[in-house]
Amino acid sequence: MGYIELNVLDHVVKNVVLGIDLGTTNSLAAIWDADGPRVLAPEGESPIVPSVVYVPEKGKALVGSAAKAQAVLDPTHTLFSIKRFMGRGIGDIQADLAMLPYKVSETDRHLVQFEVRGKKITPQQASALILQEVALRAVNALGGADIIQAVITVPAYFDEPQRQATRDAAKLAGIEVLRIVSEPTAACLAYGLDQKGEGNIAVYDLGGGTFDVSILRVDDGVFQVLSTAGDTALGGDDFDRCLIRRFQDELRAQGCAEETLADPQFLSAARLAAEHAKRDLSSDPSTRIQLSLPELGLDYRTTLTRAEFEALITPLINKTLDHCRRALADANLKPSDLDEVVLVGGSTRVPLVRAQVEAAFGRKPHTELNPDHVVALGAAAQAQVLTGGRRDVLLLDVTPLSLGLETMGGAVAKMIERNSTIPCSHTEGFTTYVDNQTGLDLNILQGERELAANCRSLGQFKLTGIPPMPAGMAKVAVRFHLDADGQLTVTAREESTGVASTITVEPMHGLTDAEVEAMLHEGYANAQADFDHRRAVELITEMGTMLRAIEKNLEAASPQLDKETLEDLAEAMVAAKAAIAKGPEAIDKAAVQATRDSLEQASLPLAAVLMDSVVKKAVSGKQLGDL
Ligand code: AMP
Repeated sequence: MGYIELNVLDHVVKNVVLGIDLGTTNSLAAIWDADGPRVLAPEGESPIVPSVVYVPEKGKALVGSAAKAQAVLDPTHTLFSIKRFMGRGIGDIQADLAMLPYKVSETDRHLVQFEVRGKKITPQQASALILQEVALRAVNALGGADIIQAVITVPAYFDEPQRQATRDAAKLAGIEVLRIVSEPTAACLAYGLDQKGEGNIAVYDLGGGTFDVSILRVDDGVFQVLSTAGDTALGGDDFDRCLIRRFQDELRAQGCAEETLADPQFLSAARLAAEHAKRDLSSDPSTRIQLSLPELGLDYRTTLTRAEFEALITPLINKTLDHCRRALADANLKPSDLDEVVLVGGSTRVPLVRAQVEAAFGRKPHTELNPDHVVALGAAAQAQVLTGGRRDVLLLDVTPLSLGLETMGGAVAKMIERNSTIPCSHTEGFTTYVDNQTGLDLNILQGERELAANCRSLGQFKLTGIPPMPAGMAKVAVRFHLDADGQLTVTAREESTGVASTITVEPMHGLTDAEVEAMLHEGYANAQADFDHRRAVELITEMGTMLRAIEKNLEAASPQLDKETLEDLAEAMVAAKAAIAKGPEAIDKAAVQATRDSLEQASLPLAAVLMDSVVKKAVSGKQLGDL
């Protein structure tokens, strides 16, 4: 009997691992392989793919430069600044809507979607088209591949829903995401700052649509982000808008109709002219602008000096510097503690930006690498680390807002503090509040305030199947785990039975930058009042538990207590009940603390009696409230 003949494999599966910078304005891919780090492009072409998608009447969508060219001719069918809409709801993007020449509506889940030629396209789908274009161009430059894996970057300020939207876009594009990494942290790797023994680094990243500043610490090749601040709606696009408004003002003064100034074709052409002028002014002291739109009867010519442009954008640059100061303060550092400053993003080519950053940090920034390539190169470096190429570098990231759980009475138990290095986990014990309680509702919160009502709920779930037992006896361990991509998983487990429940948080949509800002500021401004209120809530909850324990045991124990003790206890119980009835809003922390302490004092003899009873052994070391 002969052997079965086997087919010879004629095709070896080739796998490439890319670093992809998915930008608001431009996207690109890089690789770090045996030939070293480099951005990738087909022969003779630019590595940069404009993050623009054009939807034609028939056939496939155009992506990149071909799509950007359509922006003027056919603006209502051209999607740009897509990244601003990732993981967002309509309410989050009101300010942007007026500038958009296309229709935007809401999905059933209140997420933004674009409407083009009667078709609905989500930002994830549009981003998937961009990712695909970037990856395919890169892979072609490498001679082809079957499997594409990537590290994709996002602004440090992106919250979980925005990161999730990015992961979803990659999935749609058929790309396996190895990790989502913040843009500023990737930049440090590109500059090889991991080779430094130790030091503090500020990364100032001003792109087309986003601004991030990160303060990093490097120690023996290990990066840690100490703090981040930024604005997901501030960038070079806003510089362009300043210029568009300047054109509109001048045209208005010349008697141009409002209708023309709001025409999508005008807006699109003005945007291109503005961007062009801005780029010229990075190298020239003045520039000429010409907008000829015969269909609109418009022929506009003007000259703009760098000084005029700088005056227009100074308030925007000042905003970025405010964020820099806050990030430094959050990291407990002064400008003089910094060893390096890195500039990232196309808008850091503006001379005034460079000068102001140097003045604010007191240090000349790194500008040796192309600011448009830095992030993709850093992502490629990270991909290299993850696939085992370089084991000497570890990249750590932080979470921008605190995460916690709602506890009894609406207070917040913080589980993971803002600016914690990720990945990280925290486990804390919780218990039941009433006898025979078989379920526990868990409300996961994000924000800096002490009360649940003032934080944002990321999701809710219930742990069921807790065996009936007296209040306070169930032991529920709740674990928060934030993975390296910023995805949060919450697990609750009742320890005696092992029943467990898990949720991976995928909220409806992300926070706007204004919301993140507001949450942080409110957190600072209300810190003392919030703390007092939270303490009052906790004290009231504690008194409730104590009262129930006292009432449960008093009848059996009272023959062993003298009259005076019983009177004191009754009086303290009345006061405690009155405080509970008033609620935490109506009483101050000091008063409720005093009432709680009196109740505890008055119940000590009862506790002593109980301790002496048969349960003594079982309960030694426990407080009355635990019984
Ligand atoms: P990014 O998001 O990093 O790709 O940054 C793109 C932004 O950089 C856009 O707003 C561009 O208009 C801007 N940009 C690119 N080159 C220049 C330049 N030479 N001067 C000023 N801004 C520039």
